[in-house]
Amino acid sequence: MIDHTHDPKRVSWIASANGHVDFPIQNLPFGIFSPAQDVPRAGVAIGDYILDLKAAEFLLPASSKACLVGTTLNALFASSASARLELRHCLFDLLSKDTHRSAIESLLHAADGCTMHVPMAIGDYTDFYAGIHHANNVGRQFRPDQPLMPNYKYVPIGYHGRASSVRPSGTRVTRPNGQRKPVDADVPSFGPSRRLDYELELGVWIGQGNALGEPIPIAKAANHIVGFCLLNDWSARDLQAWEYQPLGPFLAKSFLTTISSWVITAEALAPFRIAQPPRPKGDPQPLPYLWDDDDQQHGALSLELEVFLLTPQMRASGLAAYRLSHGSANTLYWTVAQLVTHHASNGCNLSAGDLLGSGTISASTSDGYGSLLEITIGGKRPLTLPNGETRTFLEDGDEMVFTAKAIADDMISIGFGPCSGVIQSANLG
Ligand code: CA
Repeated sequence: MIDHTHDPKRVSWIASANGHVDFPIQNLPFGIFSPAQDVPRAGVAIGDYILDLKAAEFLLPASSKACLVGTTLNALFASSASARLELRHCLFDLLSKDTHRSAIESLLHAADGCTMHVPMAIGDYTDFYAGIHHANNVGRQFRPDQPLMPNYKYVPIGYHGRASSVRPSGTRVTRPNGQRKPVDADVPSFGPSRRLDYELELGVWIGQGNALGEPIPIAKAANHIVGFCLLNDWSARDLQAWEYQPLGPFLAKSFLTTISSWVITAEALAPFRIAQPPRPKGDPQPLPYLWDDDDQQHGALSLELEVFLLTPQMRASGLAAYRLSHGSANTLYWTVAQLVTHHASNGCNLSAGDLLGSGTISASTSDGYGSLLEITIGGKRPLTLPNGETRTFLEDGDEMVFTAKAIADDMISIGFGPCSGVIQSANLG
C-alpha cells in the first residue's frame, strides 16, 4: 500500500534526512542499537541519527509500546500489520512535523557513535539458491553440458543454515580453518581456508509465523514477510568442495553470515514492488501451490545492488573501494513469497525473527557476478584491480561492502545501509 509516508515531497525537520542516500523520512527502518557504552534498545534510522524508540515510548501508539521491550525486534515484528503501520505513521508524523521536535531532539543519537546489533533473535536461518545466474555460472564450471540440476526450475532449492553465527555489518570475518583437499593431493589437510569468498544475497525477515503442520498459502505469504536486509553468505570454497557431498553446505558456510543492520520494512518498500520477470520461453510453469497472479504482478523488488572491495594496499594509498559488480535483485528466479510458501509447504513452522537468504544474486554477464567463484572462474582467472593488485579469492585485510538502493520513478530512493566485513587472519591457536 502506497500512502502519504511515501510522498516524495515530504521532508523531515532533521536536515540530514533530506536527500540522505539511505535513510530519508520515507524509509524509517528499525534496528537494535547501543548508544556509547549503553545497553541495546530499539531504534529507527533517520538521516545521520537514530531515534531511541524506548525513550520515545510516551509519544508512540499504545499497540507498539508493549512490543518495544527487550533487546530484539521480535515482538514488534510479530505484531499485527495494522499495529506496525500505525507505528510507521506515528514516526512519520513525529519526524516530519515539528509538534514534538524539542522532545524528540533529546532522544536522537548520532548514528556514527552507536553500535548496531543483530535486530532479531533468529530462531532459524535458511539459505535459498534462487539466483538462477549464479546457479548457472557455478553449475557450468562443474557440468558444462547441464549447469542446472533437473529440479532447479521446479523446486526453490535451499538448505538449513546456522543462526548462531549471523552477525551485523562491520563484524570482523575470521578466516575459517577446515579440511581442504586440493585436486592434486591424495589426502585432505586441516588449516586456514585458501579460497575465501563472499556471496551477495538479499535477506528476508519473517514476522508472524505459522503453526506446525499448517502451510502458508502463496496468496498470504507476503503477510509473513516484515522486511529485508543485505546478506553476505561468506563461503570457504575449498572447504565447501571437499565437504558438500552428499548433504550440502556445512562448515564452509557456518563460520559467519553478515547482514546489514537495519530492517527495511515491507511497508517502506511498497513503491518499489515490480512484476516478477516472465520465465524464459520453454521453462516450466511453477506448480500451482507456488503460483499467484498478484504475486507475479508485484512480487519482485526494484533494487540496485553494488559490491565493493577495498584491499589493505588500497586503504594505505587512500584509494576508494573498487566496485566489483553491480546489478538488480529482479534476476531471482523465485519471488520471496514463493520461497516462504515453499518453506512452509510441508508443514514446517516459521517464526518471528527467522531469516531467509535469497541465494547469490548474480547476472548472465560478468559485471553482475555475485561471487569471486564466478568472477575468477573458480580461481582460474585472477582479477586485476586498478592499482595492479590481483585476487583470486579474498586475502587477510580485504574489506567487502554491499549496498542496496530501492528505486522507482517519481519516488524518493531508499537504501539499506552497508553490509560489510574485513577479513582477519585465521585463529591458529
Ligand atoms: Ca548462499
